[in-house]
Amino acid sequence: MTSVLKWDFTQMLLKLVDYSYDIICQKIKRVKMITLTKEDREIIENSIREIPNFPKEGIIFKDITTILNNPTAFTKLMNHLEERYKSYNLDYIAGIDARGFIFGAILADRLNIGFVPIRKKGKLPYTTVSEKYALEYGFDEVEVHIDAFPKESARVLLIDDLIATGGTAKAGVSLINKIGANCIEACFILELDFLNGKEGIETEVYSVIHID
Ligand code: AMP
Repeated sequence: MTSVLKWDFTQMLLKLVDYSYDIICQKIKRVKMITLTKEDREIIENSIREIPNFPKEGIIFKDITTILNNPTAFTKLMNHLEERYKSYNLDYIAGIDARGFIFGAILADRLNIGFVPIRKKGKLPYTTVSEKYALEYGFDEVEVHIDAFPKESARVLLIDDLIATGGTAKAGVSLINKIGANCIEACFILELDFLNGKEGIETEVYSVIHID
């Protein structure tokens, strides 16, 4: 009798160890998947071209057309974003005009969720809600269709290519929340850390590459 009990207890203990091991492995796998290797990050970063003094003197323009044109870097980037956001339970991705459309629409398709364009003023045909903001180089205004997120209290990821002063991102987050959705996170391929753009943004911020 005692030996049967001992056997059951040992079996139970082994199952528990096995189960805990599985959970730990899954966690490690998840961390590994959402963390880019140093090498991958460098491949993505090195694929971005810098254009000094564009569109005006003193601005170093980060040109992402050279990532789009580099299948290795582009796929690594999109795989990383897909791995990160597949567990976020998102309902929509909102991309900012125009480069945010590229990354946002691909990611939305990969996650099998809807994509919503946040456009420059005057481009959207239906009733819009708008927000003015200051740029690193000037002023602008963005708009979204008033019925862009039909699901109630939708979970939305905002995406753009770059965050500089943060004005565009703040306007985007504000638009999403204004029309009844919840901006869960704002995601950027590049963040210019020295401009402190993420300060005051009313959501989590994630940037793949940081430039100090
Ligand atoms: P901001 O509102 O200052 O954070 O500016 C972000 C927006 O302006 C993004 O949509 C970027 O595409 C664009 N932008 C601002 N600064 C740069 C830059 N140095 N290089 C490329 N795009 C920029």
